[in-house]
Amino acid sequence: MTHDPNCIFCKIIDGEIPSAKVYEDDDVFAFLDISQVTKGHTLIVPKTHVKNIYETKEEVASTLFARVPKVARAIEKAFNPVGMNVLSNTGEFAGQSVFHLHIHLIPRYDESDGYD
Ligand code: 5GP
Ligand code: ZN
Repeated sequence: MTHDPNCIFCKIIDGEIPSAKVYEDDDVFAFLDISQVTKGHTLIVPKTHVKNIYETKEEVASTLFARVPKVARAIEKAFNPVGMNVLSNTGEFAGQSVFHLHIHLIPRYDESDGYD
């Protein structure tokens, strides 16, 4: 596992920065985004420090993406959204602000719930 001592997500994985954990196993960690786009907005990250999709080894990416259904189902069960966006911002100009590979799971609700 690569660890970057200056990386916020490495610190979250190590428990140095507290987070609301959604799921964890040997390879990935999932937690609620601090700035919830919608209720249940979750990030899944590999435990090894990788900058983004461009720089990841295939094995790291494949394990990370393989966990999406399990985490998505957990969010679905907990928050009961009507849909979900699954995405990864890659590079500053695409909106990446934390340079540790992550996948956003953004649950979507009926507009009458008051969420975008
Ligand atoms: P990006 O903009 O790189 O695609 O996504 C990074 C996400 O990390 C943002 O949605 C931001 O709210 C979230 N984030 C940044 N710092 C923290 C933190 O300390 N804790 C948690 N839980 N989320 C964070
Ligand atoms: Zn990191």
